[in-house]
Amino acid sequence: MSKQFKPETLCVQAGWQPKKGEPRVLPIYQSTTFKYDTSEQMARLFDLEDAGYFYTRLQNPTNDAVAAKIAALEGGVAAMLTSSGQAANFYAIFNICQAGDHFVCSSALYGGTFNLFSVTMKKLGIEVTFVNQDASEEEISAAFRPNTKLLFGETISNPSLEVLDIEKFARIAHSNGVPLLIDNTFPTPINCRPFEWGADIVIHSTTKYMDGHATAVGGCIVDSGNFDWDAYADKFPGLCTPDESYHGLTYTKAFGKGAYITKATAQLMRDLGSIQSPQNAFLLNIGLETLHLRMKQHCSNALAVAKYLEANEKVAWVNYCSLPGNKYYDLAQKYMPNGSCGVISFGLKGGREVSIKFMDSLELVAIVTHVADARTCVLHPASHTHRQLTDEQLIEAGVRPDHIRLSVGIENVDDIIADIEQALNA
Ligand SMILES: *Cc1c(COP(=O)(O)O)cnc(C)c1O
Repeated sequence: MSKQFKPETLCVQAGWQPKKGEPRVLPIYQSTTFKYDTSEQMARLFDLEDAGYFYTRLQNPTNDAVAAKIAALEGGVAAMLTSSGQAANFYAIFNICQAGDHFVCSSALYGGTFNLFSVTMKKLGIEVTFVNQDASEEEISAAFRPNTKLLFGETISNPSLEVLDIEKFARIAHSNGVPLLIDNTFPTPINCRPFEWGADIVIHSTTKYMDGHATAVGGCIVDSGNFDWDAYADKFPGLCTPDESYHGLTYTKAFGKGAYITKATAQLMRDLGSIQSPQNAFLLNIGLETLHLRMKQHCSNALAVAKYLEANEKVAWVNYCSLPGNKYYDLAQKYMPNGSCGVISFGLKGGREVSIKFMDSLELVAIVTHVADARTCVLHPASHTHRQLTDEQLIEAGVRPDHIRLSVGIENVDDIIADIEQALNA
């Protein structure tokens, strides 16, 4: 079951395919181990000669069914679940980069990913160069070096809400002989499928819209199967030359289009762990069953709220890429014609003090450190995630002192707007 069905059908039915007499609903395989009849059968699994389950740190049937659903939604050939979005981004890169390597990344980036790339990866000997994603192809290409292994960006950046020109990034990556990796967390495959625009690997924090109910932290990596690793075998020895930890097996030769995800599973999960718990994968799957319905409601609510804010005289500025007049409106229409995401940012006249008073006056809308779940919530980066910074440092970091991040949920939009209105008047 895959590409012949439309996304709505894949949300509900892809992944778990029960055979005669098996549970209709995806079961939680709450088991660390799996049984075999002969020692030889087990040995073949350890040599990657047979596919099968033997230990949940590497693979679990519940996780694999959910990963298969996400792969189908993105139009990829294979996927793996990870314990968090952070783990997914780390594995996606570490699978093809090692000490001494380098990659290029848009500077419009989630704060956690920025720290991972600029601080922790650096300690591992992997260097990153950040580029302005709106710069020309020539300017961005100038950041590439002989040891550059990939290009990375977010479809819609969190929290700055900039839209990436995916086709441009794909051209830059491919003309430099490396894959394009895209964090597609905010639009989800319901609103954007980066593989259709030339991306090679897609990453998700499933914690956000995919789970959608703020119940389970998780991540996912999906491979399009399109990047020709063997054409650049000298750049990607981990995939294209024998792996001594598997008796000299070469992933691209043994697994073809499945090479990248097989290596991430057999090598990175084996050695580093960070598998998603089957319980969380079960919750994620229930979220995915309604992803198509929820995204529609998030987007229509967010557009209505953005229009309301834009028309309100107490509001200094509104940033929402699906709002006509936004700097990224044309790119959003190109890549996400049916809607982008439910996250908006805005500021109030009067700055930081007024913004804080506004947030404290909200009743239905809650202050939480989260985005992209069913309940409308707000965060004031200057007081929360970035509170150690002065106003000047905030502006340098791309966060205005009055910046309010509003994640519009799927409640009735009239109730959301009414709560915002009473707080603006307070
Ligand atoms: C939240 C988020 C992450 C990190 O995901 P976790 O599940 O919190 O580890 C990565 N990228 C983006 C765009 C995010 O919004």
